[in-house]
Amino acid sequence: MTATTEKPTTLTHWIGGQDTAGTSGRTSPVYNPATGQVQAQLPLASREELDAAVGVAKVAAVKWRASSLSQRTTIMFRFRELLNARKDDLARIITREHGKVHSDALGEISRGLENVEFACGVPQLLKGGYSEGVSTGVDVYSIQQPLGVVAGITPFNFPAMVPLWMLCNAIACGNTFILKPSEKDPSSALFIAGLLKEAGLPDGVLNVVHGDKAAVEAILEHPDIAAVSFVGSTPIAQYIYEKGTRHGKRVQALGGAKNHMLVLPDADIGAAADAAVSAAYGSAGERCMAISVAVAVGDAGDQLVQAIKDRLSALKIGPGDQAENDMGPLITREHRDKVAGYIASAQEQGATVVVDGRAQPFDGDGFFLGVSLLDHVKPGMAAYDDEIFGPVLCVARAESYAEGMELIAANPYGNGTAIFTRDGGAARQFQFDVEVGMVGINVPIPVPVAYYSFGGWKASLFGDTHMYGPEGIKFFTRSKVVTSRWPDPAKSRVDLGFPTTG
Ligand code: NAD
Repeated sequence: MTATTEKPTTLTHWIGGQDTAGTSGRTSPVYNPATGQVQAQLPLASREELDAAVGVAKVAAVKWRASSLSQRTTIMFRFRELLNARKDDLARIITREHGKVHSDALGEISRGLENVEFACGVPQLLKGGYSEGVSTGVDVYSIQQPLGVVAGITPFNFPAMVPLWMLCNAIACGNTFILKPSEKDPSSALFIAGLLKEAGLPDGVLNVVHGDKAAVEAILEHPDIAAVSFVGSTPIAQYIYEKGTRHGKRVQALGGAKNHMLVLPDADIGAAADAAVSAAYGSAGERCMAISVAVAVGDAGDQLVQAIKDRLSALKIGPGDQAENDMGPLITREHRDKVAGYIASAQEQGATVVVDGRAQPFDGDGFFLGVSLLDHVKPGMAAYDDEIFGPVLCVARAESYAEGMELIAANPYGNGTAIFTRDGGAARQFQFDVEVGMVGINVPIPVPVAYYSFGGWKASLFGDTHMYGPEGIKFFTRSKVVTSRWPDPAKSRVDLGFPTTG
């Protein structure tokens, strides 16, 4: 890997359809994780800058909510074409700031594109109900209307897909949007905003405001922001939910995860090992749907650990822009060191370190860590209890299906889970029993397609609605019910009684 000597550039906000320089005087470095070099400085918005962006979005909302469904879908269809045509450019941006390999970045974009396509169908999704003649000469119908100015706050690990989860539906429903992307990899959001402008989105409908806690606080307290959609870690999700709702906002806040994969003794161990490796180490384990714990039931354990170990030596780790690599670096040096700390603590707490990623040497200053496999991991060990969010797979042993299920039930998170088995009855029982929002049956990362909705249970979600799909439309609209009568003036009279049907 080569260290870049390029001078860091200064990024801008995107407000009112144009690049807008930061004025707060505060900035944050954006790294290339593969080289460890700072490649850009990001302006961090002050409350005043956030207020100005909301002001622009509020003005834009007046016209945008009155735009026709046909106008909105025309823009979404054009955006779909542009994003598809430019996906390689966006993938390169993702790799340069996040570190994931190019093919994985393209995968993220393709899952984001699904959300654009879903939003292209918004006329169908916003159809209300109509009841003719609920009473004599009286009709009732419902309409779905936008909320106004809404905001999205997104994590570093999917810098394109998660913003697309939110903003496509929000905008297609007639809202204007303030996006506060992760300060670690903010350029994808700017690229998306530029494409939407090219697709014909009026200025001010989508605004990108960079920032840290100060900008988030300003969003949560702003009286003109009607709703906040958040994705990130659990402590922040809970904070966002509590503070946002206290300020009268509609909030959906998706949090962290500790996803368990239950491997029954009858499973095809080779296929289960392939799935575990793909789902644990893809994107260096920095996925909220990554498999973090494989629970091996009965005598599946030794075979599974061996089969996973056999596969790890073939994985190539290096810069994400080199096609031969399967896995890139972690997001920051601090995070890489924190993940490495979990391997050390697991060893001290009695787990078996089968493969130690710390042992793999890397040239240069990139934030790389090799893949690790820990066996005999148990509750009470930090590697089991915490969301590691790195390339570390824990294997826990369970005597029976019931014991494996107890582990999953006792875990505070409930984002994703999977069962690997050839027994349809066991799989059906699992899907019935398990207290997790997204379930895979021989599928390790069961991210729902865009026309379902995404969301976990328990500490993985704060709020009532899941993200994107039908629940996303529900989140970004409110319904109005109209009761209508066109009476004959000749029959009109005063009646103080409470209206009844008849
Ligand atoms: P994070 O919680 O640190 O940051 C998320 C967002 O919150 C960022 O925009 C950040 O700027 C902001 N933020 C951070 N600290 C804040 C604070 N103290 N006050 C106000 N705002 C703050 O999360 P991350 O490290 O960017 O992303 C990784 C986490 O996101 C993991 O826990 C992962 O599981 C989770 N995640 C969950 C899902 C899901 O769908 N459930 C999807 C992707 C990521």
